[in-house]
Amino acid sequence: MIGYPLEHSFSQKYFTDKFEKEGIVDCQYDLFSLKSLQEIKQVLAQNTDLLGLNITIPYKQEIMGMLASRDRIPTGLNACNCVKIVEGKLFGYNTDIIGFEKSLTPLLKPQHQNALILGNGGATAAVAYVLKKLGIETQIVSRTMHVGSTLTYDDLNESIVNKNLLIINTTPLGMFPHMEEAPSIPYGFLSGSHLCYDLIYNPEKTVFLQRAEARGAVIKNGMEMLIIQAEESWRIWNED
Ligand code: NAP
Repeated sequence: MIGYPLEHSFSQKYFTDKFEKEGIVDCQYDLFSLKSLQEIKQVLAQNTDLLGLNITIPYKQEIMGMLASRDRIPTGLNACNCVKIVEGKLFGYNTDIIGFEKSLTPLLKPQHQNALILGNGGATAAVAYVLKKLGIETQIVSRTMHVGSTLTYDDLNESIVNKNLLIINTTPLGMFPHMEEAPSIPYGFLSGSHLCYDLIYNPEKTVFLQRAEARGAVIKNGMEMLIIQAEESWRIWNED
């Protein structure tokens, strides 16, 4: 995996445990903490047996410029979190899409026609892509209006919250170690018809999810998404 900083990586533990459990002895999942993406050239030169890479903050967009092919990334999606290496060339994928879609769809009900995405950052693109594909009308809520954002937190009122019965947190608010934080939305308007999904997986239940659950909403954290995207990366690295 490449990113910066990389002190706490779920993926390395996940793959190390997987290799042990499944008796895979000839594979290793390493972390490459790169201060600049240019350092990737050195990583590739010194690790010629690398099958692929996961890409995380802050390089999911920048890596796009280094890909030999981005054919497997949907048009208009400027984010790559998985690379397959073939003869030194980088082939880009986005496994966040499949992770989010597969973990979300079993929970969707007919009332989930409109969604709010909280935050407009690295992970938002995959979430917005999936919701569009599923035909769910989506608005992106940001602290200040910028490209792609359609609402600010100050705009959120009873009617907007009542209309948008699917709410997805793509901000890092509430993530370990700042577990007391939560997106600033009017939680009092949430109801049993809402589905609230948090991309965060540590802690298991963020303050956002706790408040939503207290209002009767169905809640889901980011752990299943993370596992699905990891397994999808593994499949991509090993397919012919
Ligand atoms: P990011 O790019 O650092 O932040 C996402 C967006 O959150 C920012 O662009 C910003 O949007 C908003 N934000 C950031 N700090 C904020 C603050 N203090 N207050 C309010 N809004 C704030 O993060 P990311 O890479 O998209 O990841 C977001 C979260 O998703 C992380 O917790 C990450 O671990 C998790 N994640 C999980 C999975 C999974 O598989 N479960 C996959 C990817 C990411 P605005 O500027 O528009 O307000």
